[in-house]
Amino acid sequence: MSILITGGAGYIGSHTAIKLLEAGYDIVIIDDFSNSHPIVLDRIREITGKDFTFYEFNLCNAQKIEQVFAKESIEAVIHFAGFKAVGESVKQPITYYQNNLIAVLNVLHAMHQFHVNRIIFSSSATVYGYDNPVPFTEEMPISATNPYGYSKVFTEIMLADIAKASPDFCAVSLRYFNPVGAHASGKIGESPVGTPNNLMPYISQVAAGKLDHLAIFGNDYDTIDGTGVRDYIHVVDLARGHLNALNYTLQHTGNIAINLGTGQGYSVLEMVHAFEKANHVTIPYTIQPRRAGDIATGYADPTKAKQLLHWEATHTLEEMCASAWHWQKNNPNGYSENHTN
Ligand code: UDP
Repeated sequence: MSILITGGAGYIGSHTAIKLLEAGYDIVIIDDFSNSHPIVLDRIREITGKDFTFYEFNLCNAQKIEQVFAKESIEAVIHFAGFKAVGESVKQPITYYQNNLIAVLNVLHAMHQFHVNRIIFSSSATVYGYDNPVPFTEEMPISATNPYGYSKVFTEIMLADIAKASPDFCAVSLRYFNPVGAHASGKIGESPVGTPNNLMPYISQVAAGKLDHLAIFGNDYDTIDGTGVRDYIHVVDLARGHLNALNYTLQHTGNIAINLGTGQGYSVLEMVHAFEKANHVTIPYTIQPRRAGDIATGYADPTKAKQLLHWEATHTLEEMCASAWHWQKNNPNGYSENHTN
């Protein structure tokens, strides 16, 4: 039996693939490299010393998914594949809804056809929207303000409906907070195409001299120093959360959403200073107006993950910053020359 990992060549998917291989699972990866690179597969093999089956196609192709389910003996699915840039989703809603929703529907349909009952879905803290107070707990109402966020909300709703209709079904939606850092080997990490949208890869590229300075989006929020506060979580902790969630789905039925965060918020300025201190570099920055759509503060209540998944984040902020820099220094252009700015 194998675990199907869609989007297994991506940032979180590749770290999770390593955890599963290390834990002795057989895995099958499907990826279309739309936001990743084939070399990731070699790096996963190098790090783990293990092999796996790989298929390259886009999940909007339902027929190909069915062929994989017909050929492989799939026990559970971890569904990472999807577009993830909020700003881009506002400009290209059809592309986002098509890629993120048709894909998951195709996967769910194939699972139904082939009697595969377990799925772990990459959801996001973005579903907590603007109006919930921190810390965010899973029982809070969910909402969205952009097509990317709605694709997460809609998928969570679909999973709940399927679980209601199928008593044997088990779905875990993992609501990620802000994944940062990289594998200790420095061989896999976050490789954004073009200029990064997220804070940590942006800081790394400023430290590397690829970008001139960091633009901090607002210093007039009601936070410790006026800059936005988020719950940054080491990607290796996040990957381990998937392993625990997989074990959960093997023993339970029903539908559940679980936060994967540390429960600790840090401001943008705290992140800048932590990165400088951990890596002995200087990050020049300017203060710019707030970015549209940003909330002041977001961090998790991680209690449910602790209780149900027996999981909690263990990596420190210093380790997050050091591993991000290690990856950046080892791979100045990410996975390929095509991934430069
Ligand atoms: N941020 C920033 N400059 C950047 C990118 C991000 O000041 O170039 C801030 C952003 O306003 C937010 C925090 O860093 O307060 C985290 O942003 P990111 O895009 O990484 O994650 P998200 O907004 O999705 O939580």
